[in-house]
Amino acid sequence: MNDGNAIIQTRQLTKQYGQALALDHVDLSIPKGSIYGLVGNNGAGKTTLLKILLGQVFPSFGGFRLWEAQEEPAWRKNRRRCGAIIEAPGFFPHMTAVQNLEYYRIQRGIPGKEKVMEKLEEVGLGDAARKKFRQMSLGMKQRLGLALALLGEPELLLLDEPINGLDPAGIMEIRALLQKLNREKRITILISSHILAELENMATDYGFLNRGKMIQQISAKRLHELCGIYMQIRVTEPERYAALLERELHLTDYKVLPDGTIHIPGVPEDVTVYGKLAVEQGIGLLALERREMHLEDYYMHLTERAEQ
Ligand code: ATP
Repeated sequence: MNDGNAIIQTRQLTKQYGQALALDHVDLSIPKGSIYGLVGNNGAGKTTLLKILLGQVFPSFGGFRLWEAQEEPAWRKNRRRCGAIIEAPGFFPHMTAVQNLEYYRIQRGIPGKEKVMEKLEEVGLGDAARKKFRQMSLGMKQRLGLALALLGEPELLLLDEPINGLDPAGIMEIRALLQKLNREKRITILISSHILAELENMATDYGFLNRGKMIQQISAKRLHELCGIYMQIRVTEPERYAALLERELHLTDYKVLPDGTIHIPGVPEDVTVYGKLAVEQGIGLLALERREMHLEDYYMHLTERAEQ
C-alpha cells in the first residue's frame, strides 16, 4: 500500500492505553491538497491519531508516513512543516492577541516579528489585535488558535475539533477561512469533528472512525452520490422481498437496514413497481416513500452497521 499522492499514510496504526484500544489497525490516506474530515463520536480515537502524527503519543503497533518520512528523525524534521490545534492552546487571558502570538513566536524560535500581525490579518483578527484574550468571543479565540498554528507557514494543518461549540455564524467563518487557506496557500488540512454536518461543504475527503476502527474512507464526491434520493420501503418480509428485488428487478445496490427497512437508491420511472412486486408475491407493503438521505443519516447507518 503506497499512495504516492498522499501526504499522510497510516499503516495498521494501533494504540492501546491499558485496556482501552484507542486505535485499532487504522489505515488512512490523506491526499495532498485535500481537506480531510476525520469524523467520529467522542472516544473514537481522533485525538489519539493526531497526537501520534505529531509525536506526542507513541503507537503500540503499525506505522505511518509523513511525506516521505517513515521514522525518526525524519518525522521530527517534517513535523516542522505542520501546524496544529490539539486541545485548547494555552493563551494568557490578560494578554492581547498580539502579545499571545508574540510569546509563542519567540518560544518556538520562529523568525520575523512581522509574522504575528500578518497571521492575525490572515485569520481576520487584524482589528482585534489589541484585544485581551479573555475579552474575545469563542469564535475569535478559535481563530487566534488558527493564527498560532499558521505562524510557522505550514503546508499541513492538523486541527482537532476547531469548530466545536461555535454557533452557525462562527462555523461558517472558520469554514470559509479554512477553504481560503486550502485554495490560496495550498495547505492540506486534516480536521476532526464529531459532527459530520460541520464539515459539509468543506471536506473533500472523509474518514469515519468508530471505536478506534476506520470504518470507511470516502471522497466527498462519492459520498454525495451515495447520499442522493432513494426509495424507503417497509414490508412484512424484508428478506424475501430483497431476494425478489434481485431476481425480478435485477437490483443489487439496495440496502436492508437492521430494522428491516429497505433503501433503494434513485427513483424508478414507474414508482408503483416496488409496491406491485410486494403485492404480487403476497408480501404485505407497510410503507413506500421517496426520501433524501442526509449526511448524518448516512453516518449513523455506517456506525450502526459497524457495531453489529
Ligand atoms: P473526543 O472527541 O472525546 O476527544 P476522540 O475521538 O478524540 O474523542 P480519543 O481522545 O483519541 O478520542 O480517545 C480514544 C480512547 O482512548 C477513549 O476511550 C479514551 O478514553 C482513551 N484514551 C485517550 N487518551 C488516554 C490516556 N492518556 N490514557 C488512557 N486512555 C486514554
